[in-house]
Order: sequence, then C-alpha cells, then structure tokens
Amino acid sequence: MFPGNYPGLSQATYIIMGAIATLLFFASLLAHELSHSFVARAKGIPVEGITLFAFGGVSRICMDAENPGDEFQIAGVGPLTSVVLAALFGLLYWIGSSAGWSVAINGVSGYLALINLILAIFNLLPGFPLDGGRLFRAIVWKITGNLKKATRIASWGGKFLSYLIITLGVVQLFGGLILNGLWLILIGWFLNNAADNSYQQLVLRTSLQGVRVGELMTRSPETVIPNITLRELVDEYFLQQRYQAYPVTHNGQPLGIITLNRVKEIPREEWERRTVGDTMIPVEQGVLVRPEENMTQVLQKMAESGARRVLVARNGKLEGIATANDVANWLRRRRDLGEQMG
Ligand SMILES: [Zn+2]
Repeated sequence: MFPGNYPGLSQATYIIMGAIATLLFFASLLAHELSHSFVARAKGIPVEGITLFAFGGVSRICMDAENPGDEFQIAGVGPLTSVVLAALFGLLYWIGSSAGWSVAINGVSGYLALINLILAIFNLLPGFPLDGGRLFRAIVWKITGNLKKATRIASWGGKFLSYLIITLGVVQLFGGLILNGLWLILIGWFLNNAADNSYQQLVLRTSLQGVRVGELMTRSPETVIPNITLRELVDEYFLQQRYQAYPVTHNGQPLGIITLNRVKEIPREEWERRTVGDTMIPVEQGVLVRPEENMTQVLQKMAESGARRVLVARNGKLEGIATANDVANWLRRRRDLGEQMG
C-alpha cells in the first residue's frame, strides 16, 4: 500500500517502511491485549497467555470476572488502548507533516494511526466475544444479574453480527471483489465459531463448578503392563476392544497412558521391538490427578496433556480414568435427571 500512497521512494525504502509498519502493528495488537491482561490481573483474574492473529488477539482469560463492573473495565480497556495509540500516531503524523519530516516516517505513522483506529472500531462491534460484545454482555449482566443469560444474549448478538459480515462478504464476492469477499467470510465464520464456543465453554464451566473428577471418572479401567510390545498391544487390546487408550500400570501403580494415536505415530516395522513402556505418555507429563481435584482444572490438564484423558490415582494406586466422554456422559445424565425432577 505504501508505493500507491507515497510514490517516488526507492524500493528499499518501501521494504523498510513495510517491515517497520508490520512490526509496530503487531506491537499495537500486543499493547491492546496486554491492557486486557493487565486489568484482568489487577482484578485478581488469572490470564494464561495471549494469542495474536491477523485482526486482533485473544487474551486467554480462564475465568470470568466476578461482577459486571470488572468485566466492563477488562473489556473496555482494549479498545481504549487502541484509540489512544491511534491518537498518538495521529499526533506524530500531524507533527511530522507540519515539520516536513521524511515522507517515509509520516507514511508509517499515518498508517499506524489508521490501523489502530480500525482495530478499535472492529473490536467495538457488539458481537461476543469481541470486546464490544463483552461490553454489551456486561451491561445485560448488570441489568439481569445473570451471567449465563447475559452470555446467551450476547452470543446471539455475535452470531447475528457474524451472519451480517458473511452476507456482506458474499455480496462482495458476487460483485467481483473476490479477496475482500473471502476475507469478510473468513472473519464472519471465525466470529460465528467464537460466539458458539464461548457460550458452550461458559455452560460447561458453570455446570462443572464444584464437581470433582472422582465423581465422573470411569472406575477400575482395564490396564496394560509396560513391558509388552506395541504389536502385542495392538493385537490383544486395540483390535479386540473399542478403547482408544489404556492406563499403563505396574502392581496397580500408574506409570502412564498409552493411546492409539501415540502407537500410530510409530512406524509399523518398529512395533515388534518397541514396548508400551517406552512409547507411553508418562505420568510426569501431567496426566495424573487426584480424585478430589476440581473438574475445571482437570479439563485444563486433559487439554494440555496431549492424551486428552487423565489417570486418577490416590496414594499411588490407580482408581480410574477420566475422558472427555466421561464428562459428556456425566453432563447428559445430570441433565436427564434434572428434567425428571422438574
Ligand atoms: Zn480486545
């Protein structure tokens, strides 16, 4: 875009301008996300990390704010940061233009002022989980006093906005603006997914609050010993039963988990000499929990371990295994019972 707007500079200047602008653009995104994390931490809410992507970022905040006021501040500070950055770069652009600075510098500061403004506006769109949607949710939460209801209403907003963006993209596509159209469809699709996920995650989190893994695990699962070969494991276990994974134990003591996926990663010709013990995901890699551990933390561990399941042990003795399926079954049972009880 720089050669079009600022003609007459050398090729090398355009490349440097592009590189600096890109770098500062990502720094601006980071500043936006860090401002969310900073306020969240100040409110005592843990933040795990930040994921940046092309048109924004997500602070992986693993808990919701305790009250609508906190939520409003956490969501609002991001767009505010972007507006402040836009103003600062705008000021720099204005000073540079009146003082007759190099066109290269003014071009970059002008671009950053614009892009930060766009970032603020995009994030203020009222589609949850964008900042604007979270501000909207905080307001509904304040009015209704019910976070789940507020999230449901806010995700409708998010879905509505996503369909609007997708429609706009399709219109552009048929109007011949193929790249613009595809880009809008992609953003809309992303928003749509995000709105669904955030609501489901909230429902999951509220349903599992205070539930311990011992309540929903599968007790006394079938186990395997570490010194059989992968060939024996496949022939005698994976081909005979429907399980996708087995706890590996020695005298009842859990050593790790062996999963079908893990075995599939090993070339077939090595199955005769590789053993379960040297292929399993060992307990040291976070796949072992205690029965009284909270499900919200256990879900986290399940997601992070790569095994998508955890072993449950007490005093060094295996008591059970918990998978996403166990969680789903438990939720279903609870829902069915809830319906019966009225
Ligand atoms: Zn934000």
